[in-house]
Amino acid sequence: MNISEHVLTQFTVDAVWLHKSVNVRYQSGFTGDDTDALIAAERHCLLTDARYTQQAREECPQWEIIDHQGRLTGALKAQCEHLGVRRLGVEMQAISAAQYRQLQQEMPTVELIDTDTDQLRQIKSEDEIASIQHACRIGDRALQDILPLIRAGVTENELRRELERAMLAHGSERTAFTTIVASGYRSAMPHGIASDKVVADGEFITFDFGAVYRGYHSDMTRTFVVGHASPEQRRMYHAVLHAQEAACAMIRPGMAGNEPDALVRRLLAKDGLSSYFTHALGHSVGLEIHEGPNLSPRESRKLVAGMVVTVEPGVYIPGFGGLRIEDTTVVREDGLQLLTQFPKELVEL
Ligand code: ZN
Ligand code: ZN
Repeated sequence: MNISEHVLTQFTVDAVWLHKSVNVRYQSGFTGDDTDALIAAERHCLLTDARYTQQAREECPQWEIIDHQGRLTGALKAQCEHLGVRRLGVEMQAISAAQYRQLQQEMPTVELIDTDTDQLRQIKSEDEIASIQHACRIGDRALQDILPLIRAGVTENELRRELERAMLAHGSERTAFTTIVASGYRSAMPHGIASDKVVADGEFITFDFGAVYRGYHSDMTRTFVVGHASPEQRRMYHAVLHAQEAACAMIRPGMAGNEPDALVRRLLAKDGLSSYFTHALGHSVGLEIHEGPNLSPRESRKLVAGMVVTVEPGVYIPGFGGLRIEDTTVVREDGLQLLTQFPKELVEL
């Protein structure tokens, strides 16, 4: 099956317009920005401008390259007229209201159909999994590199800079998202991006970060204790670790995304901690850092072998602190395979 057939058989449309750059990349291999794709049965073209025409020709020899000279809607209209498109698939989530209105005005006879092209990327090939695994390895090594620097007296931002520097040194294209370094009272914020707060003895410190390799992301969280852990910190840590490992052990293809999430909430409830677990258990990862399906109370979609998902329970107690443990994993026929490998036992630094 060629690209066009594969895309068009998913949706009952005559052509699909791809606007989201990760979807353009996934279908065509084009790695630049600001470039759209139109996929029809007998034709697939990239709609771009002079900044990218040469790159598009080099990266996508099988694709027709059209320079729209800044007039995307006009080029889309011309192509749709030429191909006799009556039903056009559109990524409604990714285009602006202004673009939608313009398209409606310029092509009044074409029916615009909301097309969820993201779903075509849910099941990863072995090549994609290898890229994600490589990004995970970069993250593992970078965190290992900065362990000696984590001590009382440094700031979260200093640690963030060292961690990001280490990821780039190990081959990351960029950071996967804004790196989270949250210590002490700030560790009670699930998404506490690094600040100038000085790290102190006896604090939890959480690192949530990712690398990017060939466009594919990794996502990992580890929490340490600076100095000696208190009995309460130990108890919290082991409750989260136990729940994280239990979720990893139970996940199988065919399971709905809400099942492992429910297990984790049940386990944390036994320790009186479930009300402090305030986000979803996980999300898929690939060309985007957050993809579907998720592991969450609302997720009824089923997991399939080849999906790459994070497993990331956490507890956050305002005024006290919090922690999260997150792995990036791939769903295999016989269970989960961990792609992030950094050890998870409690480390006191
Ligand atoms: Zn994360
Ligand atoms: Zn995550």
